[in-house]
Amino acid sequence: MRLILMGPPGAGKGTQAKVVAEHFGVPAISTGDIFRANVAGRTELGQEAQRYMDAGEYVPDEITNAMVRDRVNLPDAEPGFLLDGYPRTLAQVDELDDMLAELGTKLDAAVSLAADQDELVKRLLKRAEVEGRTDDTEEVIRRRQEVYNEQTAPLIKVYDERGLLVEVDGIGEVDTVTQRIFDALETQD
Ligand code: AMP
Repeated sequence: MRLILMGPPGAGKGTQAKVVAEHFGVPAISTGDIFRANVAGRTELGQEAQRYMDAGEYVPDEITNAMVRDRVNLPDAEPGFLLDGYPRTLAQVDELDDMLAELGTKLDAAVSLAADQDELVKRLLKRAEVEGRTDDTEEVIRRRQEVYNEQTAPLIKVYDERGLLVEVDGIGEVDTVTQRIFDALETQD
């Protein structure tokens, strides 16, 4: 199973990615988590990524693409993977297409979690209190939404045209949304 999970900031990608990946027995590969681990570990990659993340901007494609390429080539990703938060730009879509071609495989589905953006700002501000993420201030959240709308929302159409899009309502209890994802994947094509 090879899936990508898309959605605006706060739509619950990370939470759903872990459950769905476990269900299919594949690793959940979260670019945001890998960047945050590098920031925490004070690596060179982390130092480079942090200034973009703290501003709510995307980390440049070359850096992100190289990181994902290394990760999907690890042995645990051989049976499949779920990409959480990648691709996020059209250039990343092209790069992922190349990686999949090199691996001799293809995507099974692109899951898009849909949610009202004002509702998401409320959710993210609540998450800021619990997790203390430095990019969860209202100003940065708004910027992350703008960047999503400009650069990532157009990807929904790309995957729809390829017949891979699975759209799921992301508002509701975690278990409810997970079940919607499974139901939607089952009835795909
Ligand atoms: P996330 O945890 O998915 O919300 O990602 C947190 C931050 O990491 C984003 O706001 C970006 O700065 C950076 N990031 C994560 N994934 C990507 C990506 N595919 N391309 C560029 N930047 C990314």
